[in-house]
Amino acid sequence: MSDPDCIFCRIIAGEIPATVIDQDERTIAFMDINPATRGHALVATREHVRDLLDIGPEDLAATITAAQRLARRMTERLGADGINVLNNTGAASWQEVFHYHLHVIPRYHDDPLRLPWRPAPGDPDEIAVAAEALR
Ligand code: AMP
Repeated sequence: MSDPDCIFCRIIAGEIPATVIDQDERTIAFMDINPATRGHALVATREHVRDLLDIGPEDLAATITAAQRLARRMTERLGADGINVLNNTGAASWQEVFHYHLHVIPRYHDDPLRLPWRPAPGDPDEIAVAAEALR
């Protein structure tokens, strides 16, 4: 339910401050203290769930619905030109807070944000083998 050592559980419990911008029965959304762009927010589950592998279908639906709500506000009220929705699951993916959350990142035509990933054609055999494993 709740983990006393989890920073997001402590935000949800009101034990440490956060700039909350949206909430419902299953989710809470607050501003990221290290914003990638202007308006960067996080949508977290109210219950302590570790990551995408653990989250249940109701919480999954609720968090993406909350992200959509914020995405619309970011577009209408902040003038965002686009939105990135991102989840990190596992330390290898840069997850640092092990309480499920979605990053909702407003993007602007002139913003400087660049992910350390440069799209380039993949090896077709490797893609095929991975696809076979995923089917
Ligand atoms: P992740 O790498 O997906 O686990 O990202 C965790 C995010 O939580 C980072 O972008 C942090 O800047 C953000 N964060 C950590 N502590 C807080 C906090 N107390 N309030 C708001 N955002 C936080």
